[in-house]
Amino acid sequence: MTARILVVDDIPANVKLLEVRLVAEYFEVLTASDGFQALEICDKEKVDVILLDIMMPGMDGFEVCKKLKANPETAHIPVVMVTALDQASDRVRGLEAGADDFLTKPVNDVQLMTRVKSLVRLKTLTDELRLRAATTRNIGMEEVLANGRIGMAELPKILLLDERPSSYERIQTMLQGSATVDVETDPQAGFFKAAEKDYSTVIISTGFSGYDPLRICSQLRSLDRTRFLPIILISEPGEDDRILRALDLGINDYLVRPIDKQELVARLRTQVRRKHYNDELRANVTQTIEMAVTDGLTGLHNRRYLDSHLQSLFDRAVARSQPLSVMITDIDRFKVINDTYGHDGGDEVLREFSRRLRKNVRGIDLACRYGGEEFVIVMPETEPHVAHQVAERIRQHIETEPFMVSGGARQVNVTTSAGVASIGERISTVADLLKEADTALYEAKAGGRNKVVAIAA
Ligand code: GH3
Ligand code: MG
Ligand code: MG
Repeated sequence: MTARILVVDDIPANVKLLEVRLVAEYFEVLTASDGFQALEICDKEKVDVILLDIMMPGMDGFEVCKKLKANPETAHIPVVMVTALDQASDRVRGLEAGADDFLTKPVNDVQLMTRVKSLVRLKTLTDELRLRAATTRNIGMEEVLANGRIGMAELPKILLLDERPSSYERIQTMLQGSATVDVETDPQAGFFKAAEKDYSTVIISTGFSGYDPLRICSQLRSLDRTRFLPIILISEPGEDDRILRALDLGINDYLVRPIDKQELVARLRTQVRRKHYNDELRANVTQTIEMAVTDGLTGLHNRRYLDSHLQSLFDRAVARSQPLSVMITDIDRFKVINDTYGHDGGDEVLREFSRRLRKNVRGIDLACRYGGEEFVIVMPETEPHVAHQVAERIRQHIETEPFMVSGGARQVNVTTSAGVASIGERISTVADLLKEADTALYEAKAGGRNKVVAIAA
């Protein structure tokens, strides 16, 4: 794993100490001796993780962190605050400034590496999502993240896995007003609950008698549904090894008892905020992918989608010796419709035509807009004569009911021609299949239009 770490500290010896250790692990290291310089570097360079000292002259770490998190360009860079004192109040201030994690001086080697590596992993994922999201439109997610109130319209739903009533009751009380908490005392039941319901975070106590709570962490990380669900571990003092193993398994944060209420609330808020941010990015990416394979005007799949899927449908049919048919249909004299009713009128016809196509095919059929006023329907498990009937039914549905244009003010009679082809002796590739259907369509046009032609296989 290679990444750029920015180390910020006003004392050169401290910078050197961290730099040497990070370089030894093959990280690339940038350094800054005050907050102003740190902000300048983040503005100009690509930085993956920031290790930020708190006490610095001029501008302290809290302020630097707040500025970074308020800037849409830098809000997503994970910040680890390096504190001289292990004080809960410092941590709470840091979390409120938007810090992602903490390290206490003198910095423990294993903790340094585990935390940096886990944040770099997270950053890589977020970068990937950001990049993909950016390819369509900027939905202003950084602003949402920066203002920190996302997901707070409603209280976040938390699952708490803890078998000791004295402990979970105290945590429930602490979270009153900040989250709605479901308690589960049985770890396996808790795992299923986490997978079924839509929680913002799972809090897991290490205090189970006769059960290793790390097993749950590992199960949650291996299941698709819960892979990105934040996990906060609540451990007993002296459980450092267990915490390190848990961090390696991919938990997001931990607290050591006795728990400070403010710190718990602040850490939880950080996790919920991050989850919300990544969920939005992921949804945006999914939408991007959908947009890339969908025709904007009609909502049908586009030609790119057909090109990528027809081959696999074809291969599967051949492998299973099942029939497969395609139909290419093209609206007759569409140019005249455009000329008479304008381009918008033409578009209305295309949309209604697509609606009728969709209504007349099965769920497993693939309907695509192939080009301007040309459509392809792929029909798996469909014999040639059935495909012919489907095409004929569609042709009639188009012909018999006039189309409305100009917002319903005018009526147009529309007809369509179709060519049908199926896998058979003469057709052994996708290209053959489409060519055959196209030839059939051409015959239908040449034969007077408003016709279905199937070429016998
Ligand atoms: P034929 O019966 O032989 O198919 O005649 P046609 O007029 O339908 O065929 P031609 O291919 O000559 O013309 C198709 C027209 O479709 C030309 C093009 O401007 C129009 N067209 C293509 N895409 C769109 C679109 O998205 N919206 C609209 N309104 N028109 C489109
Ligand atoms: Mg046409
Ligand atoms: Mg055409």
